[in-house]
Amino acid sequence: MDFLTPERRAEIRVIAEKQQKTYRQMLVANKNKTFAIHAIRTLHGQIDALVATVERRGDVRFDCKPGCSYCCHFRIEVVAPEVFILARRLSTLPMERLEILTERLRDHVDKAQGVRRENFSLSCPLLEDGRCSAYEDRPSICRKYLSLDVEECKKPGVSAPEDGEVVLKSSALISGTREAYAKTKMPLHVHELGQALLIALTDPSCEQRWYDGEVVFPVIPEAEMPAAS
Ligand code: SF4
Repeated sequence: MDFLTPERRAEIRVIAEKQQKTYRQMLVANKNKTFAIHAIRTLHGQIDALVATVERRGDVRFDCKPGCSYCCHFRIEVVAPEVFILARRLSTLPMERLEILTERLRDHVDKAQGVRRENFSLSCPLLEDGRCSAYEDRPSICRKYLSLDVEECKKPGVSAPEDGEVVLKSSALISGTREAYAKTKMPLHVHELGQALLIALTDPSCEQRWYDGEVVFPVIPEAEMPAAS
């Protein structure tokens, strides 16, 4: 954030603080596990709305299209409520499909454990026939990562060029949300999607243990996001 003007930095900090206060009030007023999990949908809605606002700005054109999945081969970093929402949805799949997914997750976990972000090149386990199989419930990272030039995405190891407003404001919203959960004793650590999802699908106790304050998925230390300042 060093490259930002003081005014821009202050604007981002205001967004993060407002988010922190609003989310904290919400979590304090609704002390139950399902609410704490589904509250992350508010953040998803805010990121979607931010993207729509930027699109209406008129000077930007996102190059992402259905069936394009270059960004689904990075390490997908998520927080626990996002994993639980996906697990709740996927656990209703027909048994045969759930078994196939679980097997794919086991294979993914074998390859993904301990792999750093810069060395990660596995497909997301939710990618099926080049499309996201859980699109409505995709995590924040997938909602905010929008490329301005798909030709850049095609180059190995190159990150997509992104819109600065989406990057900064979504990071502030995420940061404020994480601060609010932390203040209500439910710290949102960052996890790799496949590893966390396998645990959530196979250990029914992990939702409650997370709600009670336990860290139930392997944490990615270098993925901890700094607070917006
Ligand atoms: S959750 Fe969906 S959109 Fe996100 S990386 Fe996986 S397949 Fe792609």
